[in-house]
Formats: sequence, structure tokens, C-alpha cells
Amino acid sequence: MTKPYADREVWFLTGSQDLYGEDTLRQVAAQSQEIARALDASSDVPVRIVWKPVLTDSAAIRRAALDANSDDAVIGVIAWMHTFSPAKMWIAGLDALRTPLLHLHTQANVELPWSTIDMDFMNLNQAAHGDREFGYIQSRLGVARKTVVGHVSNPAVTASVGTWVRAAAGWAATHELTLARFGDNMRNVAVTEGDKTEAELRFGVSVNTWGVNDLVAAVADVSDEDVDPLVAEYEDLYDVAPELRKDGARHESLRYGARQELALLRLLGDLGATAFTTNFEDLGALRQLPGLAVQRLMAKGFGFGAEGDWKTAVLVRAAKVMGAGLPGGASLMEDYTYNLVPGNEKILGAHMLEVCPSLTTARPTLEVHPLGIGGKEDPVRLVFDTDAGPGVVVALSDMRDRFRLTANVVDVVAPDEKLPRLPVARAVWKPRPDFATSAEAWLTAGGAHHTVLTTAVGVEVFEDFAEIARTELLVIDEDTTRRRFRDEIRWNSAYFRLAAGI
Ligand code: MN
Repeated sequence: MTKPYADREVWFLTGSQDLYGEDTLRQVAAQSQEIARALDASSDVPVRIVWKPVLTDSAAIRRAALDANSDDAVIGVIAWMHTFSPAKMWIAGLDALRTPLLHLHTQANVELPWSTIDMDFMNLNQAAHGDREFGYIQSRLGVARKTVVGHVSNPAVTASVGTWVRAAAGWAATHELTLARFGDNMRNVAVTEGDKTEAELRFGVSVNTWGVNDLVAAVADVSDEDVDPLVAEYEDLYDVAPELRKDGARHESLRYGARQELALLRLLGDLGATAFTTNFEDLGALRQLPGLAVQRLMAKGFGFGAEGDWKTAVLVRAAKVMGAGLPGGASLMEDYTYNLVPGNEKILGAHMLEVCPSLTTARPTLEVHPLGIGGKEDPVRLVFDTDAGPGVVVALSDMRDRFRLTANVVDVVAPDEKLPRLPVARAVWKPRPDFATSAEAWLTAGGAHHTVLTTAVGVEVFEDFAEIARTELLVIDEDTTRRRFRDEIRWNSAYFRLAAGI
């Protein structure tokens, strides 16, 4: 089976010291290779785990950290102190390390060999205190990391490592992210604004604007010969409304949608961009607001935010990468309207057009309908219901002195009834712990109305991402209470200001 991040590596570093002598260090090397192999072989771990020779002094540790930093293939480092590795040896290396770190607190054996254990065994298998020494120095230095505890044969351990690998891949993706904005933000909207310079430092994203005329020109450049096979692909994949089919009265609208898709693909490819935004207020000579084209590009893995919302586009791109190879999908989403029947509260999420079909395993319909705003021709769009199942909605807000991620664990459900007159793709969900607590917490946190909805990964990936990014994350889930959540916001405000320094 090919791993989702087959071209990436996570390095497995083992700490020890010279004191033990050759024989013991040989055993340390052999056993740490077994553990690295077990991680590598696990289907939970979506990247190649590369074992590195056992580290026994400060210079070698620092060198390993610098090598990990400089190798673009390396998205993370796992460290384990099989024996006792005096932690002052790790100061220079941990201080230099810029690559996401996971501290794996494990040992070679599962069961303690009660009847045969002797001091040789004790001296070899002492991660129980070797890792405590390592934990101390990481905490003293303020090193961001994930700590995972248990034997590698325990599925909970490989699952937790795999989740962190996905977060590290998301981190790598944001650092490789060129985001093209076509037009600025929707006028007067607050939450879609933000500090693009700070975002480049914090997440590595490069966010810049291109004139919508560049897109208009690219659309004009698309040839009919390129449009034909794409329209055939649409008829293959979707239930295309009769009026949009080849002999239908509005077939030209569909062809124009296909032109927009090809133009966006080419333009973003030329820019090396993996995320983009549009703005219905700034469409220039585009004849339609891109709907189908945006949906199709999201399904190919591009990040997207509407109304110039580059922050949500970053989240959609990160969620796409972090969910690679998993069932489910990720999309721009917007909290749209509610079912407020007591005991049956639900959120209906959608957008004007732009919801990614990765959220459904059913066959979408491809339709054309008027759009009340924007003053353009009727746009083509895919229409479907999101598959039921667990999901997470995540928003990114600029709180002036920092970015804040807000996440809500939700359960996507089937609509109570069919929605025959709703001409957009949508998702219906019940937020945890309950509607009122969730919505109150979200509003108190200042979470945006735009989110990424992912049904491919859970909230733990975002927790790991936030730790790597040293960015605030407020989680609303089954454990959330109003009082504690309000307190958490207050404490976080103090903490993140102090942690940022003067
Ligand atoms: Mn919107």
C-alpha cells in the first residue's frame, strides 16, 4: 500500500549515551530499529518512518536537528530515550530544531519479565526515567511537541502518531502554500480580514492578490477543444440537468463553467498556487460567479475561501492535505440557518455555491439557477447532501495580537426531509455538546461564519496542528461547559500575550 505522504519522511531519533558501552548500544540500536519498523509498517502511520543511528552526544543531536530542518522531505521528528540520555546533551539540538516534534514514550517490551528480570535488563530498558529526563528539558526549553505514551503494538499509539503525522503534513503544506486571491475581501466584512504578514510568519502561507482580469483573460484563452472532454466528464460523473446537456437550451452556461474550471487550473498552476479566493463583488467581465469550477478545484485538493476569505482557504487546503487518503472530505462551509425545534436543533450549512463534493459519496446533480446577488448570469453548480457521520468545523480568526482557531466537533446528519427547492450543496449537523452550548461558545470565541468542515479527520489533528503552530485552539466538544469555556478564553488571552513576549 502506498502511503498518503509517500514522498515525505519522519525521522526516528533514539537517545542514549556512551556510558553503556558497545554491547548495550548495539541492543539499543537493534530495538529502536524494530520500533521504527513497527511504526513504518502500521497502516495508521501515513508516512515513511526513517530510523537514524542512536544519538549519544550533543554534537550529533544538534547535527540531526539541523539535517532535519534542512531536508524538505522531512516533515517531522520522533524522539525516544530508550536508555538514559542526559538531557543537557539535547539543549543545542532542541533549540535548533524547527521541525515538528513527537516525543514517543515507549519501550521495547510489553510485559515486564517478572521471573527473569535482572540489572542488565533494567539498564537496557529504562525509558521510564530516560524519557522523564527528556520531558523535563523539553518543558524547560518550552519546546512545542506531542507526547504519545504506550507500546507501538497498541493501536491507540499508532493512531495517535498517525494523527500527528497528518498535522505535520498540514504544517508542511501551509509552508508551501501560495494563495492567490482574485479580488479583495467582501466590502465591510470584518471576520474575513486579517494580517497576511503575520500569517506568513505564523503558518508559512504566502497570500497575494491578482486582478480578476487575469482570470477573465485566462477564461478567454480556453479553447473549445479543451471544453468538450471536460463537459463529457461532467455528464459521466454527475446527473446533469436536461437544460444543461448537449442539446439543452442552457448548454452554453455549462460550457462557460467548464471554461472557468480550466482557466483557474491553468492560472493557479502557473502561479504554483494551491489555494485561492474569489469575491462575488469583484467579478469583472466574468459572466458567472465560479461555482462548479470552485467545487471541482476543491475536490482536486485546492483550498478555497469565498468573499476574499483567505484564512478559511488556508484551513481548507490544510484539511485537504491532513485528510489525504482517508474516507470523507473537506470543504468551505458557512453556518447558514437553523432548525430551532427544542430537542431537535440542527445547523444547516451551505454557501452560495461553493461546497466541495468530497463531502458526499452520492452522485451530485449539476444544475443552473439564478443567484440573487452579484448581478451576473446564472451560475452552474453541483447540488448534493453531505454524507452523515462525524465531522469537525474549524474557523480561523484574527484577534489582533494573534490568530485563534475555533473548532466544534459535530455530527453530520441527514436532513429531516428532502430539500427539493434548495439549489445548493449543503450539510446538516448537530453540534456537540448541544446546540445552545455550542453556539454560545462559538459566539463567545468570535469564531467566524466561514469554516472548513472536514469529515475525513477529527479534532485531534487540529490540536496537534495548533501545538506545532503555537496557535490558540478553542475546542467545543462533548466536554464543553459554558463556564469553563468562558474561563478558558480569559486564561488564553493572558497566556498568549505573555507567551508572545514583549
Ligand atoms: Mn460566505
